[in-house]
Amino acid sequence: MNKKSKPSAYTLPASQLQKIIDLLHEQGYTVIGPQRQDNAIIYDEITSTDALPAGWTDVQEGGTYQLQRRDDDAWFGYAVGPHSWKQFLFPAKKKLFTIERETFRAQAEPADKTRYAFLGVRSCELHAIAIQDKVFRDGPYADPAYSRLRNNAFFIAVNCTEPAATCFCSSMNTGPGAESGYDLLLTELIDSGQHEFLISSASAKGRALLGKMELPEATPAARERGQELLARAADKMHRRMDAEKARKLLLANPEHPHWQELGARCLSCANCTMVCPTCFCSTVEDVTSLTGDTAERWRRWDSCFTMGHSYIHGGHIRSSGAARYRQWLTHKLATWVDQFGVSGCVGCGRCITWCPVAIDVTEEITKFEPVTQETAA
Ligand code: SF4
Ligand code: SF4
Repeated sequence: MNKKSKPSAYTLPASQLQKIIDLLHEQGYTVIGPQRQDNAIIYDEITSTDALPAGWTDVQEGGTYQLQRRDDDAWFGYAVGPHSWKQFLFPAKKKLFTIERETFRAQAEPADKTRYAFLGVRSCELHAIAIQDKVFRDGPYADPAYSRLRNNAFFIAVNCTEPAATCFCSSMNTGPGAESGYDLLLTELIDSGQHEFLISSASAKGRALLGKMELPEATPAARERGQELLARAADKMHRRMDAEKARKLLLANPEHPHWQELGARCLSCANCTMVCPTCFCSTVEDVTSLTGDTAERWRRWDSCFTMGHSYIHGGHIRSSGAARYRQWLTHKLATWVDQFGVSGCVGCGRCITWCPVAIDVTEEITKFEPVTQETAA
């Protein structure tokens, strides 16, 4: 290493992660991290590493999610749960303004000044946030509430070493290792009873925080172990998606009979869109007080699977389940690219796990492939 250059990765003993949480609190951040609630790993406020899901992992398949004990006490030894970080940056329900009957004056909701520090963000989730940035922050109709929360947030990513069976980020080039979009990056290492992390920074905020810790430079062996764990994680992913091929297949097949089969299976429950970290549809609802003196306008998440979402001038544009499923998949994997320059899917697998009838996007897409003599045999 050149005399003046700084090491790119340090070793953080597990016991020191609490110090990072404490420093973030001192800087005014509300720290959100993974924890075990209602038999799932979800994201909620944490003040102590004691709240992390030590020794738990998630076993996922189409329509199935279960927590199981690990044979070690890893804090981040799971993939992703039903929550994503979008619930903090783009809340499921948000009051926009209140209006008084007397004055007919609208009072906008005060800005949410919370500064979030997100602990345990996976690479696929960083990609999902970058996608939502294109819609809510960097596009022509920026949402100031999203932009403020997102720009003020601190991201501590954790490399994913335990992908679920439903994950396919490696084929989408969105994981399992985080490459950008974070302030600090951790890789959890548990070997011979030693529990520690590789830690590095990728922003001035991250470097400033790391500068307050006195950490030794990571050994070549520890770095190598981190790389090995990531390579092993990528190898474990058996589901795959060829994003470019998927796009072409969908654009070429709007009338394919498989849409009817999908429509017959799909319950239009909207689970897939609720758990998807990139889906961004919303609707507005007006609520009047019982006295009729005030009314409020609320924004809440909506889904292209609801009938109401396509209601225009007295009719529903997508009245069948098949039409709604086609809208979702074609937008997510094809026309999203035309709109935003990237696929709307980051391969997190949530829509597969949380679909009650186990519809699997990686499998369904193959049904649109032309039947060749080989596949027909
Ligand atoms: S479409 Fe499914 S796999 Fe892709 S980002 Fe959304 S929830 Fe994850
Ligand atoms: S694809 Fe599955 S999760 Fe999505 S709306 Fe249909 S039944 Fe629900």
